[in-house]
Amino acid sequence: MARYIFVTGGVVSSLGKGLTSASLASLLQLRGYKVRIRKLDPYLNVDPGTMNPFQHGEVFVTDDGAETDLDIGHYERFTGISATKSDNITTGAIYSDIIKKERKGDYLGGTVQVVPHVTDRIKKFISGNVKNEDFIICEIGGTVGDIESLPFLEAIRQFSNDVSRKNSLFVHLTLVPYLKASGELKTKPTQHSVKELRSLGIQPDIIICRTEKNIPKEERKKISLFCNVDYKNVIETIDVKTIYEAPISFYKEKLDERVLSYFNIKNRQSPNLTQWKNIASNVLGSKKSVNIAIIGKYVNLKDAYKSLDEALVHGGISNNLKVNLTRIDSENLKIKNMKSYLNGISGVLIPGGFGKRGSEGKIAAIKYARLNNIPFFGICFGMQMAIIEAARNLLNISNASTSEFGNNCTPVVGLLEEWQKGKKILKGSDKNLGGTMRLGLYEAVIKKNSLISKIYLSNKIKERHRHRYEVNLKYKDKFEKKGLIFSALSPDGALPEIIELKDHPWFVGVQFHPEFKSRPFTPHPLFSSFVKAAENHKGKN
Ligand code: GLN
Repeated sequence: MARYIFVTGGVVSSLGKGLTSASLASLLQLRGYKVRIRKLDPYLNVDPGTMNPFQHGEVFVTDDGAETDLDIGHYERFTGISATKSDNITTGAIYSDIIKKERKGDYLGGTVQVVPHVTDRIKKFISGNVKNEDFIICEIGGTVGDIESLPFLEAIRQFSNDVSRKNSLFVHLTLVPYLKASGELKTKPTQHSVKELRSLGIQPDIIICRTEKNIPKEERKKISLFCNVDYKNVIETIDVKTIYEAPISFYKEKLDERVLSYFNIKNRQSPNLTQWKNIASNVLGSKKSVNIAIIGKYVNLKDAYKSLDEALVHGGISNNLKVNLTRIDSENLKIKNMKSYLNGISGVLIPGGFGKRGSEGKIAAIKYARLNNIPFFGICFGMQMAIIEAARNLLNISNASTSEFGNNCTPVVGLLEEWQKGKKILKGSDKNLGGTMRLGLYEAVIKKNSLISKIYLSNKIKERHRHRYEVNLKYKDKFEKKGLIFSALSPDGALPEIIELKDHPWFVGVQFHPEFKSRPFTPHPLFSSFVKAAENHKGKN
């Protein structure tokens, strides 16, 4: 039977519950266990798909097309296990399910309540779709004390009784701040947070304290005493230089050992951390570096392009290079100031995006990269902008654009239905914005002898998508005559998936999001190749 580990957070948000859960999962995996990690998000959106990245960071897409929280990306990168729809749920999704059932009369006239109906639905999610896993790690989003998380905490309390206390474990992550003025580490916020948790009927079994400085014995004892937790189960976590050091640091703190000891499991296989050590020393130790610019709209929020940042780090790992990222707000870019913005930049990456704002700056940057032989990588929206740039400047279609920005243009990018049937309907043929895109894994067939076929070393690939608009195939021949090759199409030949430019060191646009499939142990070939091309370009502009 699976054992359940619940990870909650207290005091403040952003303490790294996701990384903690992912690191613990990796350590258990390296000890030979099968794990699965899930996230329960307390907000009312049905999924993060409709949320602005400024609000919530990146939207991570799974193979089966779920739009999920970015922590799911950490889980995948740390465990190598592809997540599914059944690994992330929100309060919004739970309520929308329940309300649908209520309208159908499924509750047979009963009063529908938070307890038991909402909590039962949460419990069903926690244990749903569990196969032969040894451990299910469930991270509860938000911070203990938030109104929104109450039903989740009540549900995990009940769940723990249902499967028995000995099969479930509560980990609580808190902050132990250091007060410079008095030179002290403060345990009081942790005490308060645990008090709050206990008032909801949850006694944590392990407390993980995020701290800037090592926590001395005395303070650990204090936490143990006031929070009613075994001294050995008070674990500290100090900021690491790269997230890939986190599993090593939790191993040193014996987190995995304490978890196994709680469950009374004797495991003699100590985890082989060589892979993590190699990755960490590669990330931290690389002497040579390369500068890559990400040109987008959400450059001020670090988490907006989380998987992309990581995929570039992975590309660096496979080339023994440190990748320095420069984020440029495309709204500031003009052809006139391009040279100064891109000075010293060896690769230009335009990521996924939505809407007109900032698009002209991206198109200008693409033109500059194309004409100056700077390696260019366009992802999803980035590929669509590359098509628009090429249509305007290579095919001389001066009003070329995408119907995403309105109908007053020649739509070289548009809704599939628009150019196939002349109708203007959205995918999924309703007006909802949520969940109506091409989402999840789709196959593409690669053209022989293309640059892309050499990168993938395969003629069939599967990548994750998240977009509503497509490049119009009608212009394929015209583009190809000008050297812009459609080097991968959907298996039915209807949808352009990859474009590349002949006679350019590295100019690639992909309609999908390769960053979601890149992992530190298996860097995505496109990112490895792009970083390598950037290294070759170094010093040329
Ligand atoms: N806005 C574009 C579309 O919907 C691109 C989306 C993206 O980059 N993920 O097709």
